[in-house]
Amino acid sequence: MKTSFFSIIILCYSCVVQRSHCRSANDFLKDVFSLDDDDNRLKDELSCSTMECQTAEYLLKSMNRSVDPCEDFYEYTCGLWVKDHQVQATKVSWYQYKEAEKTIMNNLKEILEDENVDDVLAPAQTFYKSCLNSVNNEMNLEYLKSIISLFGGWPIDTKEHSDKLRSLDWMKVYVYMEKNWKIPTILDTGISINYMNTSQYILTIGQPELMLPRSMFVNPERYKTQVNAYSELIAGTAFLMYKELGFGPSPNRNINFGDEYADEIIQFETQLAKIKNSGEMKRSEKILKNRVMTIDELQTDIDSMSNVFHVDWLKMFGLLFKGTDVIVKKTERILVKDENYLKSLLRVLEITPKRILINYMSWCFLRSMLSDIREDLRNLAQDFNVVYTGDVKEVVRWMDCVSMTSSYFPYNVGYKYVNKYFDKSTKEMATEMVKNIREAYMEQLENLGWMDTVTRQSAIDKLQSMHEFIAYPDWFHDPLYLQNKLKIVNMTDSYLMNLEILQTSSNLKKLSKLNTFHNHAEWTMDVVSVNGYNDVYSNAIVLPSGMLQLPFYHKNRIQALNYGMVGLVVGHEIMHAFDDSGRMFDKQGNRRQWWTRETMETFLKKAECFVQQYNNYNLTVLGNQVKVNGQMTQNENIADIGGLSHAYIAYQKYVKNHGAENRLPGLPELSPEQLFFVGFASIWCESTTEQTLLNDLLTDVHSPGRIRVLGTLSNSVEFAKAFQCPVGSPMNPEDKCKIW
Ligand SMILES: [Zn+2]
Repeated sequence: MKTSFFSIIILCYSCVVQRSHCRSANDFLKDVFSLDDDDNRLKDELSCSTMECQTAEYLLKSMNRSVDPCEDFYEYTCGLWVKDHQVQATKVSWYQYKEAEKTIMNNLKEILEDENVDDVLAPAQTFYKSCLNSVNNEMNLEYLKSIISLFGGWPIDTKEHSDKLRSLDWMKVYVYMEKNWKIPTILDTGISINYMNTSQYILTIGQPELMLPRSMFVNPERYKTQVNAYSELIAGTAFLMYKELGFGPSPNRNINFGDEYADEIIQFETQLAKIKNSGEMKRSEKILKNRVMTIDELQTDIDSMSNVFHVDWLKMFGLLFKGTDVIVKKTERILVKDENYLKSLLRVLEITPKRILINYMSWCFLRSMLSDIREDLRNLAQDFNVVYTGDVKEVVRWMDCVSMTSSYFPYNVGYKYVNKYFDKSTKEMATEMVKNIREAYMEQLENLGWMDTVTRQSAIDKLQSMHEFIAYPDWFHDPLYLQNKLKIVNMTDSYLMNLEILQTSSNLKKLSKLNTFHNHAEWTMDVVSVNGYNDVYSNAIVLPSGMLQLPFYHKNRIQALNYGMVGLVVGHEIMHAFDDSGRMFDKQGNRRQWWTRETMETFLKKAECFVQQYNNYNLTVLGNQVKVNGQMTQNENIADIGGLSHAYIAYQKYVKNHGAENRLPGLPELSPEQLFFVGFASIWCESTTEQTLLNDLLTDVHSPGRIRVLGTLSNSVEFAKAFQCPVGSPMNPEDKCKIW
């Protein structure tokens, strides 16, 4: 596999540390032209063109070797990387993940801009083009206007639209947003796999995501800057809508126009925030709040909450499924994700004027389109981002368009990507790695002291039944089957119209599954995403081809790094099958508590150690000390340490089967075992603006990169041994937390 990654290294890297091995492209070419076969010195220097040398170069560019690895392993591994990747104009954050994404983005751009059009790519390419040109295409503005006009314009004024307002049905507006655009407003409805019986699908209803993290609405005084910026975004949009786009009837508006609407919308959204679950809840606690009932039962339960405001739930689901073959009856079962939210929502709606409700829902639609319609609207969104995320310049448009295209045409684009850029034998190597990690888990499970025999047997069953989806589906080699999976659809020149066509058809397709059978062994995931994950309902781990590329993986490089990076990801994902949320889903992915009470109690006691440990990490953000939330990040922290130790055992299996690996030429002081840990830590090198870091600390279930490295490795006995860290040094504290 040839990627732009190596050309970058060969052209740009100036070798400061290991001059004798690593040189520039110019030096290299000079040597090629003056090569003398008997000149051993030159031969040695040429070894820098090998995978080993390039790998060493790559690590050396990141590492700060003046730091003692037993003092601060994050700084040791990522010190130079962070210095070289200061967040600048175009990025709010920069992670190793993004480096891999950048390579894929460039590959996909090349595919989408290829002038040799064929049937597989044609619709994706038309969509991509419409996205690139969206801001300069008047068709989009006209399309937006026609939609907003249906909802009485925006924002609907207190007096001027009363007739129009009377004729509007809020439920139809809600369903339209949900069905045609998948834009969350006051609820989140649809279908998902039924986790009581994962061979079926079930209706779902739950809470929507809000524009800002919940805590910013709940504590507006503390987050004044962010809330003010949001208010300016709403008011600015309202002003532009009236002044420039002619939505409103009164042309003579003063500059403060829009403020009152912004206040109304924020007040309403704050009420939604107050009745929402706190994001700090553990996943298992959220799951326990779920209930399955019939639509009829839901109706009875909710009706008791208000004499004033009535929601006909059967009608709502009927509207949602219109256009599919499914007829929703009142006996249909529905998974209610938090009944309290629904009940409280009714109380909020009974005191909210219809005008504000419709204005809010139209706003949810508008805010997701701001960057796609006109330059002035896009600038507003950008101004908001400067404050909210610390971003100071707009994102490169083609990148947005590549991601949108690959999300709507996952197999058209994924198929082309795999054929053009992915070395098929990588799939075999990665499959062997996954096998080694599974074996490591199996051996550990057999000896795990804190699980009683019954629980242990269920865990072993679950591991044995686990599906794995590696790189890409086998049906990529089956032209007939592939043909059914490709999306062949007529696309127009209007980006907005295309979005609506694609989103509606994908929602209808999803909703049509309601009474069909869910096949656990079917590949339904994206192929190009740079991520691994655990699919609890299918009891599966997923490792797409996007994850199996540099800097994370290369089949020809030292496997210690592959195991430290991708092996860790696989180990982490398998761990989720056996953690605080995995315990609630059995080997078929059905929701069933398969741990005994005793095992559960022992686990919780051990897990508490991690909660305390991570609660003690503080980061300075925007002048304040902000604590890591040990409770919210608990599952992820445990998955990191569990994943790491199993990936390490798996690497030892690799060595046993294939022999010990050599050290890297530019890094002779590090053993392959030590490189494994450098690989692990380097995944989490990151650089973010403080605003983004704050948002992550408030909402992300993962700890920040620095903490993931320090927390995980200071609990790892294998790490301390590999680096011979003295007991009591920061990276090898006497008291460690351990579960696996
Ligand atoms: Zn995870």
